Amino acid sequence: MAKGEEVSNKQVLLRDYVYGPLKETDMVLSTGTVHLKAPQGSKAILVKNIYLACEPYSRKMMMKGDNAIEPGSAITGFGVAKVLDSDHPDFKEGDFVWGITRWEEYSLIKNPESMFKIHNTDVPLSYYTGILGMPGLTAYAGFFEVCSPKKGEYVFVSSAFGAVGQIVGQFAKLMGCYVVGSAGSDDKVDLLKKKFGFDEAFNYKKEHDLDAALKRYFPNGTDIYFENVGGIMLDAVLLNMRQHGRIAVCGMISQHNLEHSEGVHNLTYFTSKRIRMEGFMVFDYYHLYPKFVDLTLQFIKEGKMVVMENIIEGLESGPSALVSLYDGNVVGKEVLCISHE
Ligand code: NAP
Repeated sequence: MAKGEEVSNKQVLLRDYVYGPLKETDMVLSTGTVHLKAPQGSKAILVKNIYLACEPYSRKMMMKGDNAIEPGSAITGFGVAKVLDSDHPDFKEGDFVWGITRWEEYSLIKNPESMFKIHNTDVPLSYYTGILGMPGLTAYAGFFEVCSPKKGEYVFVSSAFGAVGQIVGQFAKLMGCYVVGSAGSDDKVDLLKKKFGFDEAFNYKKEHDLDAALKRYFPNGTDIYFENVGGIMLDAVLLNMRQHGRIAVCGMISQHNLEHSEGVHNLTYFTSKRIRMEGFMVFDYYHLYPKFVDLTLQFIKEGKMVVMENIIEGLESGPSALVSLYDGNVVGKEVLCISHE
């Protein structure tokens, strides 16, 4: 394809802001056109998207607010792409990058400073949507920077089979902690223990009393809670934190599809147990990426960390894949492959 040529561009557009449960019909497939050129003087890059991540970030951007996706525009999300044309001095044709792009075949990235160049291509490029990309850095920053773990501590991870949770659990094991995860199916529980090395795991959907479940796995309480779900799980965890426990609030996926957030009841435990609870955003830790990627690549190459991906072919599969994230019907990091480079 020649530089500057006008080509068709398949896209997944947001129909309107979404409140309540996400449906496939909230997203629309469309075909537009694009010039394969970064306009002169724009400092932009024109990329061909290769892998797009299906993750809560894209769902959250569908609600009105800062950086929300405008109805009628392509869904935004993290992905891996190849630079086809660049008007930015830091990028050149042929570079592979990861960062926030859009659910379409070709994207004009107007602020490429937010993209990371991929230097190590001796692992699958799809890893940069997961373990070596945003979810990996989220796990690393949330666990090491926010939780300040110590060897031998007791760690609980909710949505442990999710993209972030799987990595948190593996970092915690490598740190010498005792790690328990919760997930929504027996198969996920099995894999957490057998493939990802968690000491224990349980199916939260089968537990009538989450407090009792946590007491079963942590008879002496939890030092660290890596919070991915919120709601009733957070309330149960607060009852089981140890003195000076730390809670890293990564996300609260159980609240995404609710029109009104649930309340939390056990906040009084913050004082008596001297708990520190801290929310964080991965964007504030981007400066740690080089350190994180070197360490994680080494762990992957030494076989100390494992990856489980579910690669789904085609942009048109995006809406159903994103909806299935909230049904829990996923078997590993969900990634759309939209181009075979
Ligand atoms: P994820 O955990 O892969 O999300 C999907 C999983 O969440 C589903 O497979 C399902 O697994 C679980 N889930 C869905 N609805 C649920 C509910 N109502 N209650 C409990 N679990 C539910 O997503 P992720 O990418 O790893 O992200 C995890 C969390 O981190 C999310 O809350 C996300 O918003 C947040 N996040 C934050 C940052 C940041 O910078 N702070 C960055 C990335 C992600 P089950 O089968 O186990 O139910």
